[in-house]
Parts: sequence; C-alpha cells; structure tokens
Amino acid sequence: MTQLPLRAQLASALGRTAATLSRATGRGDGSVIGGRVSLVLEPDLLRQLAHDRKLALVSATNGKTTTTRLITSALQELGEVATNAFGANMPAGHVSALSSAKDAPYGVLEVDEKYLPEVIDATGAGVICLMNLSRDQMDRAGEIWLLAQKWRRALAGKNTHVIANADDPLVTWGASTAASVTWVSAGQPWKEDSWCCPQCGGPLDRKGMEYVPPGSAGTGANPGTTENDWACRECTFRRPTPSWVLDNDAVIDPRGRRWVLDLKLPGRANRANAAIALATAEVFGLPVDRALPRLREVTSVAGRYTTVERDGRHARLLLAKNPAGWLEAFDVLDSSLPVILSVNAQGPDGRDTSWLWDVDYRVLRGRPVFVAGERRLDLALRLDVAGVPFQLAGSFGQALAAQPPGKVDVIANYTAFQNIRSEFGRAV
Ligand SMILES: [Zn+2]
Repeated sequence: MTQLPLRAQLASALGRTAATLSRATGRGDGSVIGGRVSLVLEPDLLRQLAHDRKLALVSATNGKTTTTRLITSALQELGEVATNAFGANMPAGHVSALSSAKDAPYGVLEVDEKYLPEVIDATGAGVICLMNLSRDQMDRAGEIWLLAQKWRRALAGKNTHVIANADDPLVTWGASTAASVTWVSAGQPWKEDSWCCPQCGGPLDRKGMEYVPPGSAGTGANPGTTENDWACRECTFRRPTPSWVLDNDAVIDPRGRRWVLDLKLPGRANRANAAIALATAEVFGLPVDRALPRLREVTSVAGRYTTVERDGRHARLLLAKNPAGWLEAFDVLDSSLPVILSVNAQGPDGRDTSWLWDVDYRVLRGRPVFVAGERRLDLALRLDVAGVPFQLAGSFGQALAAQPPGKVDVIANYTAFQNIRSEFGRAV
C-alpha cells in the first residue's frame, strides 16, 4: 500500500492514542473519540485511509452489524480485513477502523443509513450492500423514502457495484441508479413501510402471497420466492429478478446450486444476512464453498445472541430496536421458553415509544412473558390490548430472578440491551 502523507500519519497516530487513553480510562472501546481526534487534525483522512483498499460498505435499518461481521469473516479467507466491529458506524468510527488496520488490503464498514452518501463519496468504496429500510425509532416512513432518494443520488454515475435485497421495494428503488447490481432475494417479513411504489406513489401489488414450499409441484412458481414478488400497479417499477435466493434454510446461488446454511447464528434474519454476505464474497472473488464455512464460525456479534447467566438462569439476549427488528426477534424465540421483554427510551432508543403499537405481539400468547425496562408500563398496556398475559418486573434482574432455573429468552431495545450486558457480563 502507498504511504500516507505525513499529516495523515500524524492524525491517524494521535487518534489511536486517544482511543487507547479512552479504553484505559474505561470509556468504551475508544473508536469514536479516536476517529474524531484524527478527523479534526486531517478532515480528508477517511479518503486517504480508504485509498488503495478493496472496500465494502454495509447499510440497512436492521442487521448491518451482523452482516458486516459475516462479510468480514468470509473475506478473512483472502487476507487481513479492517472493520468497525463494534458498530461505530459514522465517519469517526470508519477512520478509527481503517487507521487501526493500516496494512489490511480489505475493509468492511458498517455505515449508518443517513451517512451512507457521505461515506460513499469519501471512501470511493467499490462494493455496497443494501439490505432493508423500515421505520426506526426516530425515523418515520416519509423519512426513509428521503433516505432512499439520497442513496440513489449518491450511487448515480459512480463505478460501484451494489448487492441489494430485491424483496424490499424501497431498497430496490434506492439501489437502482447504481452502475451494476447483484439482486438477492433476502425476504421482507416487515411490509408496513412498503405498500406504496417509491417511484410513483401507486399501490404495490404483492403476487402470490402464499408461500410455495420447495419440491411442491404443479404451481409453476419458483419455490420459496413467490411471497416476495411485487410490482407497481401504475408504473413499470417492479421487483428485479434475483440472482441469489434465500430459500428457507438454504441459499440458491446464481448457478442454481443450493447451499444449506447451517449457521450458528439463529433466525430467518441471519439467514438473510448470510445470503447477502455470500453474494458479496463472490464479488470479491471468494466462492461459496470457501465463504460459507467462515460464516458458520460466527456465534455472536457484539453481544447479540450471547447468553448471560445468574443463579442457574441462562438468558439469551436478542436486540430489537424497531418494529421490523421485533418481528425478526420473535422468529428466533424458542416457543417452549419464557421471554423477558425490556424497553427503554433513552436518546439512542428514541424517546418516543409509540412504535410499540406497530408490533403484533400475539405470537407471544401461550408462554410466560415478563416485562421490564423504563417503559414497561407502555409495553404492558400494549400487551394487554393484544390479549397477551404478562407479569411486570421492577427491573431486568427481578424478572430474571422470577424464572425457574434454566433457559429464558430476552428481547431488549438498545440501551436496555447494553445495560443487561454491562450488569450481567460482556461476553462477546
Ligand atoms: Zn409506480
């Protein structure tokens, strides 16, 4: 790799020192403060650090941290990979990630949806993965349309290859100005933000909503894909034909070969993340037979899916930050186990918890449900209206202590999740 200019070297080194000091004083992993220090000294540093590397950027409302980790694991098969493993997904975090792996020929960076245009411009990344867009704590449906429109402008006229989820109409629209796109059928369980055509505002038709299981004969439909087909009733905008397809527990590659995923990470959402990761790995020249074993080695990502233990109660932690995320978390739950739900409303969660009303909780009926967190009363009212019996707990610790010894699942939003991890162990 070419040597950085002296000013950039200095900015990079001082940023790493700031990060080390921050870690030493117990203020987190230091990547954000380190990157900020570096960017003050050399505002052009991200461009310089990205130069000469093969970079993939990963953006979505949900799953970007996990997908970043999966792609990173796969590309390590090819060489050293720089990555922002702890979700510091704005430019300061990207500077820190690239600065701390100066000689890595590859980089995989998780990017906040709103910062994606800026980071595309700064890094000149050759590969961009776009997975899903849905309402988030602070973003409402209108704003995600604006985000997709910004993605379109950022991708137009650039020599960038995009890997995008063809099952998400808004992502498809956001990606479709790119010079080249690999379309992946990665599914879209949450459809509440995509009933309208992003191109013309007309209604989107969803074809064949019933699921066609693989091996079923006589329908003429492509197994596993019909539930995801969509088209605008009023203009030509419709789902592009995917070259990769997530089909239940397997991925079908562009040559029609079926690869059973067999991941350690649980749930449909992670199989979708893996489908995107395999398509991305192939763009980097890494075939499925070499990438997939690497994906199978990933067991937890920044605390997600890890288990914490106290007094014989083993709690598996699931992070869900918005309605689409809750839907995917329900898919992971073990129906034979009790579940603890914990919801906070700190700054990173969004103060407004009205999104709780967007989630359908009826799937929780029939198992013991415990409710904790700052906004437990809001959640309790919501569960009551949905006819889901529950018990209120004063804290997560009390909810855990109320369990019989054994396993329990936990779904928590951002700060609730971080609080549980810091109080009950930080195993990664
Ligand atoms: Zn339309």
